[in-house]
Amino acid sequence: MPVRIRPAVAALPAYKPGRPAPTGAAGPAYKLSSNENPYPPLPGVLAATEAAVAGMNRYPDLANTAMAAAVGARLGVAPECLAFGTGSVAVLYHLLAAVCEPGDEVVFAWRSFEAYPIAVQITGATPVPVPLGPGAVHDLEALRAAITPATRVVMLCTPNNPTGPAIAHDELEHFLDAVPEHVLVMVDEAYVEFVDDPAAVRGLEALQGRPQVAVLRTFSKAYGLAGFRVGYCVAEPALAAAVRAVSLPFGISVAAQAAVLASLDAEPALRERVDALVRARAGLRDGLRGLGFDVPAAQGNFVWLPSGPLTAAHGEAFAAGGVVVRPYAAGEPGDGVRITVGEDAANARVLELAAGLPRP
Ligand SMILES: *Cc1c(COP(=O)(O)O)cnc(C)c1O
Repeated sequence: MPVRIRPAVAALPAYKPGRPAPTGAAGPAYKLSSNENPYPPLPGVLAATEAAVAGMNRYPDLANTAMAAAVGARLGVAPECLAFGTGSVAVLYHLLAAVCEPGDEVVFAWRSFEAYPIAVQITGATPVPVPLGPGAVHDLEALRAAITPATRVVMLCTPNNPTGPAIAHDELEHFLDAVPEHVLVMVDEAYVEFVDDPAAVRGLEALQGRPQVAVLRTFSKAYGLAGFRVGYCVAEPALAAAVRAVSLPFGISVAAQAAVLASLDAEPALRERVDALVRARAGLRDGLRGLGFDVPAAQGNFVWLPSGPLTAAHGEAFAAGGVVVRPYAAGEPGDGVRITVGEDAANARVLELAAGLPRP
């Protein structure tokens, strides 16, 4: 049975942003709370965007034709398999809106991306969170066991925001073999460019011959276009078309489309920056582990401090030292602090402050 497409359009939700850099702190202040890219736009992007802005009296290309052609060529997929949105969070909402109705269930790991439970609830479907396994990894066996006849979607986040580990590709294949084929499996690869574990999920490969899989990507993180809001999914044509059908028309601005095209042309500079952030990530991870923190595998542009009951205190201590991080304090054992890999000075400051954090 194919994935059932819901014709209705769901309302758009609100999203809780990371705090801005603290003001009034002595010395420089750093915002490491939203997994943003610390680099300025890639070479050529500002100029292309400025040129496009001159055409702001015209609507953008509704079909995102040039972006679809460029991204399709880059990924080796047909443009009709792509659907764009104002950030991949929007695409996620659209995917859910396309398949979920009240009473349906959506299974996802928890703790994971905080947008997931909100997005599910907006459709009227029921969120089914499944605890992460040891090492803050997705427990694919438990996720599979949580699938019921009411399950419409499973959302996988790899690497997992906020904890960091990626799902192993062979484990994903195994999982997909066991999931009923009418269940949509969303593979959120927002941080795929930062992955350096060769065993990690390769979403586009998992998609081959599996029409139930949709891969989510974004220009917000590695490409540094968070402020311009562009993300997309790769899916079989009927599913991609359903996403486009429920999307806000003309959502992606003239300027954002130009920025994406120019960013795709700046691959060498992108690679250099991503490599530098991946090296800095290793430095942060190793530095924090050296201080005695049990930091899990880090495959995104962030590291996870499993602060547990000290989460709020750790968040405050960082802020007081001029670094705003993202504390997840829900009063659960899995609480912790997510720290985005930033500029060198910010990362050094993180390690300085971490050395003085309260310990259990
Ligand atoms: C940042 C992020 C996204 C992308 O968000 P945009 O809407 O594209 O800015 C998607 N999924 C996860 C898990 C993220 O952390």
